[in-house]
Amino acid sequence: MSHSVQKPGSGGLTVPETERAAARQEGWPQPLIEGFLRFRDNLFPSNDIEYLRLFAEGQKPKFLIVGCCDSRVDPAIIFNCAPGELFVVRNVANIVPPNEARIGHHGTTAALEYGVCNLGVEHIVVLGHQHCGGIQTLLQTGGKSNPDSFIDDWMRLVESARVSVEADYADADPDVRQCACEQRAILVSLDNLLTYPWIAERVMAKTLRIHGWYFDIKHGQLLGYNTTTTRFEPL
Ligand SMILES: [Zn+2]
Repeated sequence: MSHSVQKPGSGGLTVPETERAAARQEGWPQPLIEGFLRFRDNLFPSNDIEYLRLFAEGQKPKFLIVGCCDSRVDPAIIFNCAPGELFVVRNVANIVPPNEARIGHHGTTAALEYGVCNLGVEHIVVLGHQHCGGIQTLLQTGGKSNPDSFIDDWMRLVESARVSVEADYADADPDVRQCACEQRAILVSLDNLLTYPWIAERVMAKTLRIHGWYFDIKHGQLLGYNTTTTRFEPL
């Protein structure tokens, strides 16, 4: 990333209490409130029994999705799922970090652990997508990431995908290269899933299956990684 990033504790702005209160109270986004009212008046009443059941019994989703933050690839919309069906963790570029011993705030890993160990999901889908901003950043930085950028640091988790794509697609069209990197990054995440013993055990026992899927935004197509052909193919 080209912009400079101010990290907490490194001399950033201190927001006065009055400004903090104002920021939390004023200028609420009306489209969201209006959307909620439409949901409450139209969708909630027709599903109120299902919501009551989910409230009483708790959630028991069978599918865990690792998706991107991108506003165009909401898993519940793409898979046309109802409340309670999907357990979703979203981050920049739908990355699964490897199992690391170091202390840190591992939000994605915590979600995976909860979904697998507490909810007992039966499938994990790593859902990549076309024109991913995170992957685009990774390709643009070309291995020279800004150490002060949280995004650059995060994207280094799939640096191996970038390196292999740069070697194999050196003369390719940028769109083709980016698509290849988006798909190879999914494979890195699939490998990383198996670095967690509580995932590996369930995969070997066949009580949990892991899948790499790719959403083609332009054509509205869903591709799945075929381990036999080692290609992403239409589902
Ligand atoms: Zn993305």
